[in-house]
Amino acid sequence: VKQAKASGRPEVYEPKEASLARRRFSIETELRRALDRDLLDLFYQPLVDLKTGEVTGFEALARWHHEDRGEISPTEFIPVAEESGLILTLGRWAMDRAATTLAGWDAREGETLPLYVGVNLSAIQVARDDIAAMVAGALRSSGLSGERLTLELTESAIVQDPRRATRVFDALKALDTTVAMDDFGTGYSSLAYLQRLPIDVLKIDRSFVTGMMIDPDSVAIVRAVLSLADALGMATTAEGIESRELATTLAALGCSSGQGYFFARPLAAEDAIDYWRSRQRPSLKPILTRVRG
Ligand code: C2E
Ligand code: MG
Ligand code: MG
Ligand code: MG
Repeated sequence: VKQAKASGRPEVYEPKEASLARRRFSIETELRRALDRDLLDLFYQPLVDLKTGEVTGFEALARWHHEDRGEISPTEFIPVAEESGLILTLGRWAMDRAATTLAGWDAREGETLPLYVGVNLSAIQVARDDIAAMVAGALRSSGLSGERLTLELTESAIVQDPRRATRVFDALKALDTTVAMDDFGTGYSSLAYLQRLPIDVLKIDRSFVTGMMIDPDSVAIVRAVLSLADALGMATTAEGIESRELATTLAALGCSSGQGYFFARPLAAEDAIDYWRSRQRPSLKPILTRVRG
């Protein structure tokens, strides 16, 4: 109440929707400013081979530390970026930053590292930007080869305009990049697209992985996705692995890779490559040895 008075705004009497709309609007204004001033950051969450325990890559995740509001979650600012069109700028920034960072790690380690980086692409980018040209540009300026990048797309990128999505997916494959279907199972795409589009990896949404601990139906869904992926020759990544038990269970079920707080949270670029290096030490490497199946 005090703060509302101090800022001269009658916050207390405002209906909830109005205050939400206002926060949304100020997030948009401030996000535009943050992008202009290069105030966003990209963090990297390790992706782990569930059979060997090796770190095979990282997912790049946008972070925004706001000077007054503190940490603002991408689950809040990405939707705002999508509605306002700022996702086009943000998406290009993330692509370039991720490629530059990976090339920087190679340079510092003095070799082409056996690591890839996964970059999230919004359905809005697929609909409105020239994704293939953007990715080609990032590869050219970083000097990376296409296999070093995974593009994470969601089902919504397909549903809106399947013909356009097909062209984009094909163009990404022509650049030798890996294509992953993110949050698989939460969208509205038809299974026919899995067959038709060049998809290399299915990422099993965190909600199913978390659910496995308490809900037999989630286990059934995860099993079904794993067998579908296997039948179609796709790899699988499970998100949101928060315990050793989940990691070993998923490995036993045949899930090829995973990410989650059990392994590591998303890390700043320097911490991510340090994490990879420390896990390279033979004594620490096989954290998931002798997994059944
Ligand atoms: P996503 O692509 O599905 O990314 C995985 C999310 O799961 C990340 O949330 C990650 O921090 C979180 N996560 C991973 N392991 C665990 C775990 O063990 N426990 C819990 N509780 N969470 C875990 P984050 O970073 O908050 O990002 C949320 C979403 O925002 C992403 O979901 C993605 O859809 C979007 N996003 C983030 N960065 C970008 C970006 O640069 N571009 C686009 N288009 N979207 C982005
Ligand atoms: Mg993702
Ligand atoms: Mg995901
Ligand atoms: Mg997700």
